[in-house]
Amino acid sequence: MSLSKRDAKHLWHPLTQHKVAGEAFPIARANGVYLWDEQGNSYIDAISSWYISMYGHCNPMITSRVAEQMLRMDQIVFSGFTHETAVEMSEKLMELLPENQQKIFFSDNGSTSIEVAVKMALQYHFNRAEKRDLLIAFENGFHGDTFGAMSVSGLDVYNGPFSDFSLEVIRIPVPNGANNKQVLELLETQLATGRVAAFVFEPLVQGAAAMQLNDPAGLSALIEACHKAGALCIADEVMTGFGKTGTHFASQQLSHLPDIMCLSKALTAGLLPMGLTTCSQEIYDAFYSDQLADGFFHGHTYSANPLACAAAIAAMELLVSEEIQQNIQKVIASHTEFDQRIREHEAVSQTRQCGVIYALDLNKEIPRYGPERDAVLKYFMDRGIYLRPLGNTIYLVPPFVIKKEELDKIYAVIEEALVVFG
Ligand SMILES: *Cc1c(COP(=O)(O)O)cnc(C)c1O
Repeated sequence: MSLSKRDAKHLWHPLTQHKVAGEAFPIARANGVYLWDEQGNSYIDAISSWYISMYGHCNPMITSRVAEQMLRMDQIVFSGFTHETAVEMSEKLMELLPENQQKIFFSDNGSTSIEVAVKMALQYHFNRAEKRDLLIAFENGFHGDTFGAMSVSGLDVYNGPFSDFSLEVIRIPVPNGANNKQVLELLETQLATGRVAAFVFEPLVQGAAAMQLNDPAGLSALIEACHKAGALCIADEVMTGFGKTGTHFASQQLSHLPDIMCLSKALTAGLLPMGLTTCSQEIYDAFYSDQLADGFFHGHTYSANPLACAAAIAAMELLVSEEIQQNIQKVIASHTEFDQRIREHEAVSQTRQCGVIYALDLNKEIPRYGPERDAVLKYFMDRGIYLRPLGNTIYLVPPFVIKKEELDKIYAVIEEALVVFG
């Protein structure tokens, strides 16, 4: 029996309507920027497997560090115990984060990092005996699939059946430069109620909204307004973190800094799941007390897993290396050149770029998921490129280690696709 048939027997895949989706596509091997199927065909991973494998798959520097760690210590309880790899990871991360971030809380993935952030923000106010029960989030944001994260997310495809079970959230439009003032006014109206606990946002780029950009000046003004009104700001950098926007973190392009940051995805370079919620000293201090109950009683079994911490250390060393920093600049420049070539193409309605993240919208309506979009995906796969369009948006988040020839191959296939699907 084929692997796809065996898969279909017991496995239930994420984000899939199994009645209409075809069989799952078997991947046998992943290395560098390539995925291989069982017949030995290769595919360039142009989205870094959901923006995580930024240093290439099975990068030997990272796998060898994790292998060493595996022989030394696999897992310990992080409540009461600590270990060298977690501490070293925290020290490395502190060198990269915006200067107001001082404390790091572990969880297992992007959704849990948001869950922790929302609970941290709510308890911050609770511990200070302030009643604040309202959250603010951007329209079309995506923050994950657990209940708190889902509540602040604004994409109906994921939330529909659960909308009655949500935390109370007010959604505001994304500032785009032209509407900054109106969005600020909408936020200020909510802040004036004194009920706003926190504002949750994806800084600069909303990933699941098909790489929609937001205006750094507009967002900075929203953060400033929150701070004036005593509301906390939570930057979801699960997608944007670790170099993709051209700076280590998107928040570093803002003039006002978030109080809490959520990290995952490229944190461990695609080796192991781990989420982090980082915060300012002021937030930590609101939990630091003689009262046990003021503490943050949240904990995941795999907190600070030594293998994941080892992967994160190696990934951060690579991120700051001259080679990777130069490659990031080369990818950015290549995208910009490609953009100049195709932005006026009649099959293209819009293009956008932030760092190594590049997106173009086809000049026609295509549902987010479904057969039409699957046909575009298949077109790219048949030509050796793994791209995962969202509706009419084709986006790229290639690994930092991708070579010019590989990028050029991706661009060429996209240009052919514009003719076929335009
Ligand atoms: C992927 C993603 C999440 C959720 O992360 P998971 O690890 O899939 O739970 C949250 N926020 C953003 C911005 C993401 O891109």
